[in-house]
Amino acid sequence: MNQQFCACCGKGSEKLTEHLDLYDDEIYQGNQQIIRSTSHHYGDGTRIGGRAISTSRHLTLWDGETYRPLKYGSFCKLRCAQEFAEAAVRAGFKRIS
Ligand SMILES: [Zn+2]
Repeated sequence: MNQQFCACCGKGSEKLTEHLDLYDDEIYQGNQQIIRSTSHHYGDGTRIGGRAISTSRHLTLWDGETYRPLKYGSFCKLRCAQEFAEAAVRAGFKRIS
């Protein structure tokens, strides 16, 4: 899906991302873009999946093109939907039925 923009504030919809944890010297071998990487250092004796580890990296991955839809139809927040509706009323828009 292409990026959508809020009809009220113009903010763009969020990227559709995936998350992946790598341990110690593991290297990301996928073909997605790494848009965020946070490191974590563990104390001695930490085991994950039966394996002793000392560091991990939490990756946020994006395919470079897919975005989430806006959360509230044409708007990013309910507040934006409300502001837009109030502006429509002030501009003279009314329900027909
Ligand atoms: Zn908005």
